[in-house]
Amino acid sequence: MLRKFINRVFRREETLVAREPAIIPFSSHGIRRDWISSGSRRVCEALSERGYKAYVVGGAVRDLLAQATPKDFDVATNATPDEIRRCLRRSRLIGRRFQIVHAYMGQEVVEITTFRGALGEDAKTDTHGRVLRDNVFGSQAEDAARRDFTVNALYFDPATEQILDYHHGVADLKQKTLRVIGDPKARYREDPVRMLRAIRLAARLGLAIDPAARRPIREMADLLENVPAARLSDEIFKLLSSGHAVTCLRQLHAEGLHRGTLPLLDVALRTPEGERFIMLALGDTDARIRQGKSSSPSFLFAALLWREVGVAWRRLQEADNHALPALHQAMNEILSAQGQKLAITRRVAGDIKEIWALQPRFEHRVGRRPYGVLEHPRFRAAYDFLCLRAKAGEIGAALPAWWLEFQEANNESRNEMLATLIPEGEKRRKRRRGRRGGKKTREAEDAAADFAAPPEAQ
Ligand code: ATP
Ligand code: MG
Repeated sequence: MLRKFINRVFRREETLVAREPAIIPFSSHGIRRDWISSGSRRVCEALSERGYKAYVVGGAVRDLLAQATPKDFDVATNATPDEIRRCLRRSRLIGRRFQIVHAYMGQEVVEITTFRGALGEDAKTDTHGRVLRDNVFGSQAEDAARRDFTVNALYFDPATEQILDYHHGVADLKQKTLRVIGDPKARYREDPVRMLRAIRLAARLGLAIDPAARRPIREMADLLENVPAARLSDEIFKLLSSGHAVTCLRQLHAEGLHRGTLPLLDVALRTPEGERFIMLALGDTDARIRQGKSSSPSFLFAALLWREVGVAWRRLQEADNHALPALHQAMNEILSAQGQKLAITRRVAGDIKEIWALQPRFEHRVGRRPYGVLEHPRFRAAYDFLCLRAKAGEIGAALPAWWLEFQEANNESRNEMLATLIPEGEKRRKRRRGRRGGKKTREAEDAAADFAAPPEAQ
């Protein structure tokens, strides 16, 4: 049974590799050599001057055909990493799973890979079939068959302006179809991240996932559990910052793929408020990205996990913890639960905490404290986060409006703004002082009174 399956897959691989590419001339695809980055063009020139084949490959060719802006311009060649390094002075060998060369062409870093060989029967996999090591070089046809989708197995030759199309990717792109090369189940088993890539690419380019590629996703979703956290996190971040995060997330949900990726997201999306908050956050991020602005992983993850922090915060406060320590404990709990799965780095986790911890401080406008908030290095992100909370109806619009005015005001007006707030703060403090006295108690109470928790936490 297993042998039959292996034979079937390898026979299919052999037929895939035996293919001759369709050669598509400039007159039918219309992509000019000056549309590709100057770095990748110079890399191809340097390699072909020494007699090697070199093409711009994959995502860049696909995006140019689909009239989308490519993120990067990768090069594939028959030169080995050592040979590539000899052709390009400013280059460096990177990667363990598969050796890649990075060439530094002015500001641009061009990623150059040697054609990969077909996966042999002895390829090293984990117990679920995920390929662990894959360091065999091969022919261009083998390289094409190793790529994930037909639209990604396209090679553009800057010298001739021809596209070499091994798996009818150009036709698939015209028909707006995302098709897996080979047997989708086998390809997902080799690398489960391809399921996430399918969702992301389909959403970004407005393609429909071919039914044969879509069908097995639900039953194979659990394989994502075995993917190393750093790889998963990388892909999730790409997905969330694709400019189409809302569509991607809906699709992930529809395909049952969110389970192995962001289990807490599943919980967060279960309540209408949670879903509203996350969809608003992602909608905002999508709009930013489509306007060419950046989005930071910390802001995205802060938004995705905020509702969960709220739930944990409420639980801890109900267990008689003070508001402020409870908030810090809740943040740590959620970050350590998700941090491992998503390989959130310590630096990003620190930024996320700062965004969250500044939220109650926005409310606490007493004395000169707002100046401290304004000067905080994460003020911008935290303020954007505050606006998001207001948009989601979690807090009123007055608070972000006050902070907008405060940011834009000169010092004199700022002091006036604060003066109108101080009596209220003083009143409250006096009230407490009269009741209990003691600096420590007063401070804790100030904090507890002023730190408004998200609605679920109240
Ligand atoms: P984008 O750059 O927009 O994220 P991309 O398709 O270019 O999308 P990259 O990660 O830059 O993605 O990969 C470059 C190329 O390498 C792809 O176009 C594809 O041909 C191949 N590739 C990437 N990841 C995989 C994978 N998991 N399995 C097979 N081929 C892959
Ligand atoms: Mg790319």
